[in-house]
This record gives sequence, structure tokens and C-alpha cells, in this order.
Amino acid sequence: MKKIATVLGARPQFIKAAVLSRIIAEREEFQEVIIHTGQHFDDNMSEIFFRELGIPPAAYNLDVNRVGHGAMTGKMMECLEPVLESEKPDLVLVYGDTNSTLAGALVARKMGIPVAHVEAGLRSGNMKMPEEINRIVTDRISNILFCPTEQAVKNLEEEGFGAFDIRMVQSGDIMKDSVAFFKDRMGSRRDLNEKYGLEGEKFVLATIHRQENVNDPSQLAAIFRGLDEISRKTGVVMPLHPRTKAAMKEFGIKTGVLLIDPVGYGAMQQLLHFCEMVVTDSGGLQKEAYFHKKPCLVVRPQTEWVELIEHGLAVLTTANKGQLLGAFQEMRNRRLDFNQNLYGRQIGKTIYDEICLFLELNSI
Ligand code: UDP
Repeated sequence: MKKIATVLGARPQFIKAAVLSRIIAEREEFQEVIIHTGQHFDDNMSEIFFRELGIPPAAYNLDVNRVGHGAMTGKMMECLEPVLESEKPDLVLVYGDTNSTLAGALVARKMGIPVAHVEAGLRSGNMKMPEEINRIVTDRISNILFCPTEQAVKNLEEEGFGAFDIRMVQSGDIMKDSVAFFKDRMGSRRDLNEKYGLEGEKFVLATIHRQENVNDPSQLAAIFRGLDEISRKTGVVMPLHPRTKAAMKEFGIKTGVLLIDPVGYGAMQQLLHFCEMVVTDSGGLQKEAYFHKKPCLVVRPQTEWVELIEHGLAVLTTANKGQLLGAFQEMRNRRLDFNQNLYGRQIGKTIYDEICLFLELNSI
């Protein structure tokens, strides 16, 4: 039986990988070996997703975390090499744009193992984002690129990928499948209110965790001033990322926003289902807002998910209090049409079939 090694380590990767893991298990054509780098390690940032999404337990946990970007990527690579040497997978599967993605792709490719990158071709154009660097390098060294959008394919073409021996597939966005998997489990609004102590008719769901927003005290304070303004009009609930929690403590930032611990995927889907609007700097959450037909304020100077902006379903906003509140009011009044199909259909199945084809064509 052929073997696929999935290298993952961060929350959004567990969610994306769960879709393909389910298909791999159903079809019984491949053995999947899951290698967790340990990048995210708290129970509510990691283990909860394995339990809830039925991901097979990781065969390895490299336990690399709490160090800077260079040390993290380096240590992951050092630990990954002997694992791949002993497992000898036919293909390594990586997701997204984290240090785990980059480390997995680099080690595998140098060992001559083909690499498939899911969520390829995305670009923010902002080289200050560590994620942007991870994306560019991972794309360039992978063998198959699964692009979530037409724009992602265009980005790669503009970078000259057409001339490289790399297969590009516009597969659609795998997160669409994960949202669909949970669509019948929304629970009741009353349960949600009781669970989180929500009051009132409406609430905004907010998440902030990008390094560019969190590491700068004045930027982070400005975001919370803006959210506090919004919370004077409607409830604001924020599952707090550990990085943001640590920064708030360090910088002494206080807020009127309802802060809760990070929640599992099902709970997040419920919050998305019942909220009025999403305010976020998360890549994944921007699209989940769209899948749940909710407007989104993106607290970043640019986004990789440009089609949401082009269709007026999301707006970019700065941390400035007036702008954040202005964008909130504007989106509240905007008439929105969520009925386009921006992110494809049957994405997991497409990716799976393409992987089979790739292995067959290359006699692997
Ligand atoms: N998410 C979650 N619980 C939370 C916050 C986020 O399950 O408390 C999910 C969210 O629904 C989305 C994913 O995590 O599917 C997004 O991950 P994150 O924002 O960490 O990373 P990004 O998408 O920006 O890479």
C-alpha cells in the first residue's frame, strides 16, 4: 500500500487536513502517517481538533514550539528528516503557510520525496508577513500545487510557474468542505448564549492573532479601542489566541470585549452561524464568514482572499478606531449577495483524485 505523510502543526492545518484524512481513510488506497510538528500544542489549539474532526492520531509529535521562526523551522527540519527516512512515504502533503508547511516541504523535497501543497498560490504581496515567505518558498519547491482560487493560479503564472515542472490545479478551497461537514450541527441560539454568557440579539465574532497586529503594542491597543467602540453598539465575542493573550498581558491592554478561550471547530461554526458580522485578521475566518453568509472586516492592509473584497463581502480596515467603527456601520448597511460560488465544489475529492493521478503518471 502506498503511503502519504501529512506534515502539520497549526490549528488551521488540522481543520484542512481532516477533510483529506477522511477521504484517505474511506478509500483505503493509501496509508496516511500524520506527523505533528508540535507548533500548536495547547489542548484547545491542537488535540481538540483531532478528537472533534476524527483525525487519526499523529504517529509522531516533534514537539517543536516556543522558539523563534528560524529555530522553529530548523528544529522541525532536523526532527523531520529521520522520520521521513524511516517512514519512506511516497508523497508528503503540506497545508497552508506556517513554519510546519515550509519545514515539511523543504525536508521532503531534498530527500527526493514529492510534495503536494494544499492552499498554494496565495499572495498578500506583503513580505513582512512570515506566512508570505513560507508560501512563496513552499510553492516553488512543491511538485503539485492545489490552488484554492483563480487568483491563486494567476499569481503563480505571474511568477513564472508556467515554466517550471510543477503541476498546478485549481482545486477550490478545502475549508469549504470542512464547513459543509459541520453544517447540520449548529445547535440553538439559546445554548450558545448560555455557554458564553452572550446577551442581546446580535453579536460580532472577532479574532486577532497575526504577528503584525499582535507584536506592536500601539497597533494592538488601537484594535481593541476600535472593538470597544463596536461593543458599545453590539456584543463582541473573541476566542483569544494564546499569542494575543500573552501580548495583552505584556502590554497591559484591557478591553470590554467578551474574551473567551479558543474554542473547538464545532463551537466556532456555531458562533459563525449566529453572529452578525466577523472582525478578523485570520485567513481562514474570512472565508468561513463568507460560507456562513456573514460580512467581514479584515483588520489588515491586504488579504490573499481578494475575491471577497472584489465582491464587496469583506472590507479591509486599519486598526484606527474611527475606521473600524466606520467599516462596521458601512457593512451593516450594505446589501450583500453571497450566492456566487467563489471557492469551488467537491474540493477534497478533486485533490485526492489529482494526487492519485500524479502518482500514477510518475510511476510512483
Ligand atoms: N478557529 C477555531 N477556534 C478558535 C478560533 C479559530 O476553531 O477559537 C478556527 C477557525 O474557524 C478557522 C481556523 O481556526 O477554521 C482559522 O485558524 P487561524 O485563524 O488560527 O489561522 P489562519 O486561518 O489565519 O491561518
